[in-house]
Amino acid sequence: MPQIPVAVLGATGSVGQRFVSLLDNHPWFNIVALAASDRSIGQSYSKACRWILSDPMPAWAQDMVITPVAPDAIHARIVFSALPANLAKDIEPEFAAAGFAVCSNASSYRREPDVPLLLPEVNADHINLISRQRQQRGWSGCILTNPNCTSTGLTVALKALQDSFGLKRVFAVSLQALSGAGYPGIPSLDIIDNVVPYIGGEEEKVEWEPRKMLGKLVDKNVELADIKFSAHTNRVAVADGHTVCASVELDSSISPESAMRAMTEYQAPASARQLPSTPQPVILVRVEDDRPQVRLDRMTGKGMTTVVGRVRPDPLFHLKFVVLSHNTIRGAAGGSIYNAELLVQEGLL
Ligand code: NAP
Repeated sequence: MPQIPVAVLGATGSVGQRFVSLLDNHPWFNIVALAASDRSIGQSYSKACRWILSDPMPAWAQDMVITPVAPDAIHARIVFSALPANLAKDIEPEFAAAGFAVCSNASSYRREPDVPLLLPEVNADHINLISRQRQQRGWSGCILTNPNCTSTGLTVALKALQDSFGLKRVFAVSLQALSGAGYPGIPSLDIIDNVVPYIGGEEEKVEWEPRKMLGKLVDKNVELADIKFSAHTNRVAVADGHTVCASVELDSSISPESAMRAMTEYQAPASARQLPSTPQPVILVRVEDDRPQVRLDRMTGKGMTTVVGRVRPDPLFHLKFVVLSHNTIRGAAGGSIYNAELLVQEGLL
C-alpha cells in the first residue's frame, strides 16, 4: 500500500508532539507537513518545538520547516488537528471543504449530529455518519473527532459492561495528568503539592460524550445512550495518564468476577480489530490490590490499552473500579490515528 501523505496542525504542542512520535514509521501514513502558529512558522521543528517526550524527536522531523495552518499551504490527504478548540472551530471546516479528512482532537465539533465521535473499539459503525456529513455540508473532505481524554478509558470500560449487563448510572471522579492541559500548561507553583478540583468544561464533557459513543446509530443518526452520568474532574501532579474512579449501576447486580470477565473478553468490532493502532488487548484487567498505577501501567499496549483494576462491589450502586488511560496517546494522538486508519480501511478517504 503506498503511503498516504498526512500533516499535523498544532504540531509543536503536547498532542502535536505525540503525533510526530507515533507517526514515526507508521505503515500507512507519512508526515509531509507540520503546522503551528505565527510564533513558529518558518522555523525548523527542532527550534520551534520544546520536545517533552522521552523518545527522541525523529531525525526526519528536526529540519522540517513549520508551515501555516492553511489548506493552500499543505499538500496532504489527512490532517491531524491538535489545535486549540476556538481555532479548530473556524479552521477545520476550511480543511474539510478543501477535501482533507480532518481527524480532530478539539472539542469544537464533537456534539454535531453529523460528526462521528469515535473510539473504534467502541463505536466503529458511527464512522458511517461521514456520508451524511458530506451530503449535508457539501464537503469532499470530512471531520471526525475523538473524545476528551478523560471520557476515553472510561467509555471503553463502560462499553464492555453495557454490552453484557446494561448500564443505568455512572458516578466518576478523575485524577488528570498535567500533559492534558497542553504545554507549558499549569504553573508549577499551582500544582506541586496540590490537587486542583476544577478543569474548565471537563465535567460537562465527561457527562455527555460517553452517551454519544455508547449510543446507537439509527438511520444516520446517533441516539444518545440513556445513561445518567455525574463527574468530578481534578488536576493532579502526574505527567501523563488519566485515572478515573467509577461507580456504576447496571440493569441488575452482578459479581465483580463477571464484570472482570466481560472486560477481559471484550473485543473491538470486527472492522476495528486488525488496524495498526488497535489496542492489544483492548482492556487489561489487573487483579492486584494496588493497580492500575499511572507510572507502572500507562504504557500498557503501547499506551493504547485501557487498564482496569480494583473491580469490587459498591455499597451505593452495583460495582466500582478504577480505569487508567494514557491521555496523549489513547486519549489524543493515538486515538486520532486509530480513527484515520478506520476511515481509510472503510474506503471513506
Ligand atoms: P498545546 O500544547 O497548547 O498546543 C497547541 C498547539 O496549537 C501548538 O502547536 C500551537 O503552536 C498551536 N496553536 C496555538 N495557537 C495557534 C494559532 N493561532 N494558529 C496556529 N496554531 C496555533 O495544546 P494540546 O494539549 O496539544 O491540545 C491540542 C488540542 O487537543 C486541544 O484542542 C485540546 O483540548 C485537545 N486535547 C488534548 C489532550 C491532551 O491530553 N493534551 C487530549 C485530548 C484532546 P505554537 O507552538 O506555534 O504556539
